[in-house]
Amino acid sequence: MFVYLDNSSTTKQYREVTDTVVRYMSEDFGNPSSLHHLGITAEKAMKNARNQVAAAIGVGDNEVIFTSCGTEADNTAIRGAAYAGRRRGKKIITSRIEHPAVLETFKSLEEEGFIPVYIDVDKEGMINMEQLESEIDDETILISLMHVNNELGTIEPVEEAAALKGEALFHTDAVQSFGKLEIPTKNVDMISVSGHKIHGPKGTGALAVKSNVHIKPFIVGGGQEKNMRSGTENTPCIAGFGVAAEMTHSHRSANITHMDEVRDYLMRGIIDGIDDVRINSPKEHYCASVLNVSFLGTRGEVILHTLEQSDIYVSTGSACSSNKKNSKSHVLTAAGLSDEEIEGAIRFSFSDLNTIEEMDYVLDRLKDAVGSFRRLGSFR
Ligand code: PLP
Repeated sequence: MFVYLDNSSTTKQYREVTDTVVRYMSEDFGNPSSLHHLGITAEKAMKNARNQVAAAIGVGDNEVIFTSCGTEADNTAIRGAAYAGRRRGKKIITSRIEHPAVLETFKSLEEEGFIPVYIDVDKEGMINMEQLESEIDDETILISLMHVNNELGTIEPVEEAAALKGEALFHTDAVQSFGKLEIPTKNVDMISVSGHKIHGPKGTGALAVKSNVHIKPFIVGGGQEKNMRSGTENTPCIAGFGVAAEMTHSHRSANITHMDEVRDYLMRGIIDGIDDVRINSPKEHYCASVLNVSFLGTRGEVILHTLEQSDIYVSTGSACSSNKKNSKSHVLTAAGLSDEEIEGAIRFSFSDLNTIEEMDYVLDRLKDAVGSFRRLGSFR
């Protein structure tokens, strides 16, 4: 049996998405900026995809800028807001558990003279709201806070935090919640999403920028995307991204209910069948796409490769952020987990395509893998 439980890293592309991408690569391959009918067909595909992505986020279609990925959306929002606001202040606030797409952008802005502040989280990865409130002042020009954490699945109180923003612009990285949960939009100025986490093509993303918000463009050139992101649009993949957005959005509540059942079944099986485990994901305020568990006294990386031999695919942390060996998860570290808990952590991440039958197979192989490790030590 093949079981893919690494859906927070990337997802299997839906067949309908692939068919759409192929159509705009092979037949309707025009440049959306061209004036002839091939160009107009491509432009219509862009417009359609923009409507689909905007509807799935919950913003107006004039508020969506297509980017090459979630990382570019994060960079565009954060740099764009920092450069637009630099005359008013230098303080930029985020949390310690953001994706590197956000944290590295903050680091690079620090080198340019901006003053970053990192908000702490509790054991379940929930941000400290009092600390956030006390840090926001007249110098603050940007707050960037993720909606769902990619390693723990924690749902952050984004709209509550955005209500505190004062004069600052508020950005949320909604890459992990897009297509699964309702996206927080109240008082939120900018929202990043990505295509390949929702069964869409890799190399697609979008940044929603509210129509009253002005940020500096990140990539300049021919003026595409309302001058906010120049470069000939990746029309085939954007059209496919639109299809994925519509499909996941229209089945969102059924999909999340299904993921919750599958996740709960796996979690119960682990708690009942394996000793010395710690569930790292929150008990409440979690997104059902992620379950993070520490198998104490083991090494997550070894368990991962042992499961792989049975065609089961999981992750130790955030696979898409790096493949650096032996780097300790900054998220689990910020949540205050011990070295043993971090070392033995596995992230299972689900999609609508997973089944209960698959979980029985995973539980069987997982018990074997953990048992063997504990009996023999690292046996690879
Ligand atoms: N933000 C979060 C929370 C993510 O989990 C990821 C990818 O894992 C990204 C941003 C980056 O998205 P992309 O892979 O589309 O660049």
